[in-house]
Amino acid sequence: MARSRTPRSRVAVVTGGASGIGEATCHHLAERGHRIAVLDLDTAGVERVVKELRANGARALGLTADVTDRGALDAAFAETRAALGPTEILVTSAGLVAFEEFDQITLEHWDRVLAVNLTGTFHCCQAALPDMVAARWGRIVTISSSSAQRGSPKMAHYAAAKGGVMVLTKSLARAYASHGITANCIPPSGIETPMQHRDQAAGHLPPNEVMARTIPLGHLGTPDDIAAAAAFLASEEAGFITGQVLGVNGGQVL
Ligand code: NAP
Repeated sequence: MARSRTPRSRVAVVTGGASGIGEATCHHLAERGHRIAVLDLDTAGVERVVKELRANGARALGLTADVTDRGALDAAFAETRAALGPTEILVTSAGLVAFEEFDQITLEHWDRVLAVNLTGTFHCCQAALPDMVAARWGRIVTISSSSAQRGSPKMAHYAAAKGGVMVLTKSLARAYASHGITANCIPPSGIETPMQHRDQAAGHLPPNEVMARTIPLGHLGTPDDIAAAAAFLASEEAGFITGQVLGVNGGQVL
């Protein structure tokens, strides 16, 4: 049976859409003609991105919500449905990075890092899936981290949460394949974003030139590098790709 690969305008919710990888993903999806709901904690950032998307001719909606707050998320997806239509694409880029020696991690911080990175992804997927099931079409792209692939001595909480995101994604791929929904995961590494700049300024990460030496391609990546991959995985053409982990990391073999 032939499946249509003709691009259609879909409704995409992008969490963490006010900055870095999420922001770039909003623009890449908009360039493909999709309607964009920009969801983030950062209200001013959401307003800025929505303004830029609209200036470029896209239909866009701003949503301020914490991905750990299920009530706020359900309301945000309902608002998206009313304003733009049912959600058919979800990209989960909201994330909270953390660096601590393992024996210094408090239970409270462990819980918060898992709540934002892993449970937040769970909430967003569960909130988005009913629309996708009804449409018999959907694309979920989760943003994990290379720290989940190699482990990270000072990021046990973060790496554990991001590893959970990866396996959650594979599980969703298998659970929803028969509904025409794909789920894939991108674990970035070395992408120049506000998050990475903050981590460098705090001394948690080395400067760019040192990081670049560990990357076979010899330079760091940009938010656009991840956004391009996310937009492809969210496309009609990627309909036979599901349950995959796509490293976008300059050639690091993990
Ligand atoms: P970023 O520039 O800091 O963007 C992340 C956005 O998520 C920020 O706008 C942040 O808002 C928002 N956010 C944080 N917690 C949230 C919450 N609870 N609810 C809603 N929004 C929330 O970081 P990025 O580098 O683009 O990171 C995007 C994703 O890639 C993250 O999941 C990160 O873990 C992952 N990642 C990035 C790299 C890299 O090299 N940059 C590497 C591995 C993985 P606030 O600023 O207000 O907190």
